[in-house]
Amino acid sequence: MKNSVRVRFAPSPTGPLHIGGLRTALYNYLFAKKHNGTFILRIEDTDQSRYVEGAEQYIKEALDWCGLTIDEGPNTPGDFGPYRQSERQHIYKEYAQKLIDSGHAYYAFDSAEELDKLRKERESKGETFTYNSQNRTHLNNSLNLSEDECQKLLDDGQPYVIRFKMPMAKQLLISDIIRGNIQVRTDALDDKILFKSDGMPTYHLANIVDDHLMKITHVIRGEEWLPSLALHILLYDALGWDAPEFAHLPLILKPSGKGKLSKRDGEKHGFPVFPLEWKDPKSGQISAGYREDYYLPEAVINMLALLGWNDTSDQEIFSLHELIDKFDLSRVHKAGAKFDPEKTEWFQHQYVQKVDIEILANQFQNWLKTQKSIDSKIEYVRQIVSLLKERINFVPDFWQEGYFFFEAPQEFNPKATKKAWKDGTAEIISNLKTLISEQNDFSKESIQPTIKNWIQSQDIGFGKVMQPLRLSLVGDMKGPDVFDIISLLGKEEVVKRLEFAINTLK
Ligand code: GLU
Repeated sequence: MKNSVRVRFAPSPTGPLHIGGLRTALYNYLFAKKHNGTFILRIEDTDQSRYVEGAEQYIKEALDWCGLTIDEGPNTPGDFGPYRQSERQHIYKEYAQKLIDSGHAYYAFDSAEELDKLRKERESKGETFTYNSQNRTHLNNSLNLSEDECQKLLDDGQPYVIRFKMPMAKQLLISDIIRGNIQVRTDALDDKILFKSDGMPTYHLANIVDDHLMKITHVIRGEEWLPSLALHILLYDALGWDAPEFAHLPLILKPSGKGKLSKRDGEKHGFPVFPLEWKDPKSGQISAGYREDYYLPEAVINMLALLGWNDTSDQEIFSLHELIDKFDLSRVHKAGAKFDPEKTEWFQHQYVQKVDIEILANQFQNWLKTQKSIDSKIEYVRQIVSLLKERINFVPDFWQEGYFFFEAPQEFNPKATKKAWKDGTAEIISNLKTLISEQNDFSKESIQPTIKNWIQSQDIGFGKVMQPLRLSLVGDMKGPDVFDIISLLGKEEVVKRLEFAINTLK
C-alpha cells in the first residue's frame, strides 16, 4: 500500500507571510485534502539571527483566516512533533555525525577571516569563491588533516562547521512533478554547510531530517528552493533514505511581469502583498493586509489558487471545496504567474455577491461605529448592504454608495440642483410631502405605486417629481432606486428631508 500523503508548509518566522508563501501553503493544503492526507505546519526557526517576534503567530493567524486548517503543527499535536525546529535541536547532530562517519561530510575549520580573504582575492579577479570539490583539498578541513589533528582541534573547542562533501563530476538526473526531469552536474555545486559548532543545523540538514522523520511524502515549495534540490536528493541518498517527491512552484511576478512581486510593489501601487496587516516590531512600520483592507478570505484564496494553476476549463470561481476536488499538481505551470491587482478586486466583487449577508452587515456595522461613530441597528444595516452590494467591492464602499442612509443631506450638489430644482418644484414636493405623510405602509410594494399613481393623477412629468425627490433625499442625483431609499428611510425621515429641501432650495 502506498503511504498516505503527508505534506508540510515550512515557513521561517522571519517576518510576515508574503502572499507567495500563502499560495505555497494553499497548494500544500489542497494537495493534502485532495488525497485525504495530512497538512503539517513546521516552523523552521534554526536561524535565530533572522527570528522576528510575532512572525509565527502571524503565520498561524493568516492560515486560520484563510481556513487552511492545520492537521499537525506547533499548537496542533501530532505523532511527529515537536513542530518547531528550535525545539528539535537535539535531533540533528546525530545525522551530521552519520554523514561524517560515512564520508559524506567533513569538518571545516576555516575562519571567517580566512574565507573572506579568499573571497576577496577571487573577486579582485572578477571571479567568485565557493567552497567546493575543486578547492576543498587546499582548505582548512578534516579532509586535509589526520584523524588525530582533527580530533585535537575539536577537543580544543576550535569553532567548526560540518560541510557536505559534494561528489566530484557526477551527472544527476532529478525529477520534479512540475518541471519534469532536470539534469545537474555536481561540479557546479558547492559544499554547503550542514551544521555549526554552536549546535545548530542549517536549513538544508534540518529540512531533510525533518521531512524524513515526519514522513513527508511530497515537498511542495517555492521555485527559489530548486537550486537546493540536488543537494537535498544527495543528502537523502547519503543517509540511505528514500526521498519524497518534489514540486517547485512558479514565482509570483510583479503586475508588469518583470521580476518577483515584492513588498515595495504593493506600497507603490496600493495593494497588499500580505494576507494580514503587519506591524514591524522594530521600525513600527505598518504593511497593509488583505484582511484589514476588507478582502474576503474566499476571494484571496480563489485568486491565489489561480496564480499558477488552472483546471482545463474557463471556470474562474472556485470554492475551497471545489479547489480541493479539482486541484492537480501536474497542472501547475512552470512559468511565473503575474499578479493582477484588478483581477484580485474582481474576485473580491464576485465574493461580495456570494457571501452570507450577515458577514457584510456585521463588518459594515462595525465600520460605521469605528469610522463614523454611527450606531446603527443590524436589521437596518443588513437591508442597506443587500441593496448596495452589487455596486461595491469593499465594505467602506457601502458608505460611498449609501452615506445618505445614515445622514441627511446638509447641502445639495449645485449642478444636480440646477438640473432638478426649478420654479414650481417646491410646490410639487410640498404636495408630495403631504401625500407621503398620509401613508402608513412604507414597504416599497406599497409606496411605489402610490407615488406613481399620484404623479399620473397630477398630470406632471415623471422627472419633474422624481429628480427633486431624489435630490431632497440624497443631496445629489445618485443612489439606488428612489423607492428603496424612501422605504428604508421611513416616513418621518423622508418628510423631514423634504421639508429641509423645500426650505433650503426656495
Ligand atoms: N524554511 C523554508 C522557507 O521559509 C522552507 C523551504 C522548504 O519548504 O523546504 O522557505
